[in-house]
Amino acid sequence: MPTSIANGLPLDHETRPPIINSGHLVLVIKVTDDCPLRCVYCSIAGPLSRRRKAQRRRMRWETAEKIVTEAMGQDFAGQITFEWHGGEPLLAGIPFYEKVLGLQRSLAREGLEIENVVQTNGILIDAAWVEFLLKNDFAVGVSWDGPTHDLNRRGETGEATSAMVLSAIRSLAQQGHRCGVLTVVTKRTLAIPPDEFLDFYINAGIEVFDLLSQEPQFVDDNTGQVTGIGANLFAYAATDAWLAAVFEAWLGSEKYRTIRIRTFENIMRLFVGLPSRVCSIGKGVCPGNLLGFLPDGSVFHCDKFFHDERYRLGNINRESFASLLRNENLVAIEAMNRDDIQHLDCRWKVVCRGGCPFVRYALQHTCEGANSHCCGHRVLFDHIFAAMMHWCPDKVTAAPEQTRPCQRTTRPCAESISDCRAVGDSASIQ
Ligand code: SF4
Ligand code: SF4
Repeated sequence: MPTSIANGLPLDHETRPPIINSGHLVLVIKVTDDCPLRCVYCSIAGPLSRRRKAQRRRMRWETAEKIVTEAMGQDFAGQITFEWHGGEPLLAGIPFYEKVLGLQRSLAREGLEIENVVQTNGILIDAAWVEFLLKNDFAVGVSWDGPTHDLNRRGETGEATSAMVLSAIRSLAQQGHRCGVLTVVTKRTLAIPPDEFLDFYINAGIEVFDLLSQEPQFVDDNTGQVTGIGANLFAYAATDAWLAAVFEAWLGSEKYRTIRIRTFENIMRLFVGLPSRVCSIGKGVCPGNLLGFLPDGSVFHCDKFFHDERYRLGNINRESFASLLRNENLVAIEAMNRDDIQHLDCRWKVVCRGGCPFVRYALQHTCEGANSHCCGHRVLFDHIFAAMMHWCPDKVTAAPEQTRPCQRTTRPCAESISDCRAVGDSASIQ
């Protein structure tokens, strides 16, 4: 059974230092893998799940209690984000989260900042949930796929859910609640012209959202050994090109000015020297910063690797945080990540810092011919950089050394960004 990728590494668990890359600890906690929806791309509750029948697990309170208690006892952590995921995390019920909040209050210490985030499909949000989430300052992420929602995200009996989810988003927004919409980009999305896609959001009243590439479905040999890619092989490169087209459409029309797309904003932040706000863009080091928990207490390096036993760090019911952070798999993942980043050959390496290790992992397991040393956003970086060099070159501080400022005027002009990019490319963006 492939339980270790720590080939050749020292295995002296007790004396090994923990992997700590940041004082901000992010915990993605799957409180259940049960869910009222059957999304077409879901690896947990949807039709792609080979283990669906077995997966109606709920996290025991004792497990949640141990996670919160252990995390809040870590001296190195100045900030902890508890991200409550599923399946559908609202199935755990309001009393469960009230207990969590009570525990967090009892363990609070000066200088420790706590944030709770819930990532929901929105189906169960009613007036009581709105009141609870608002009162307790939960950040809420709601999954809504825009024009492809009712093709991708149907209920157990095949019913459409888009209108229900939109209604939940509006209920939260009416109360002035922080609510981010997450849209999964699938092959169906790529067929939609970018301006038509953005118009759909404007018409629905959704102005702040993010666009995430559908993750590939991995197949394994029933021991957790990944043997290949499943039926939903999905091309990151195609998504990247489509995102670049959406970016240009967004930039090209005044009517989209109020729209904010998280991925675009975070890449722009990198170019002006500000840190990105998401782990998958421009951070470079995530091992030890983010831990993923399954309902049974299993702990992995990031929730994206739940399918691969080599990324398992242990079980919170039996082990301490300190022990998990010294796990030999985590040490190996950390070393592999640093080595990968060192060998990146992309011109945007200095900005993206390798992006998300999961994307590199996915590219290594797919046959799409993509560069597995790419963060997945090479083309989007090209477009955003060209635009920024055109519109605000004085603010750009983080371009690769081999590029030179755009030769165009620093004054914003009405010409298209692709013209500017052509000039930039010929000038030296290589
Ligand atoms: S809402 Fe989430 S957990 Fe439920 S079926 Fe859809 S993707 Fe899966
Ligand atoms: S693997 Fe990717 S998504 Fe997971 S913590 Fe690292 S950067 Fe974030």
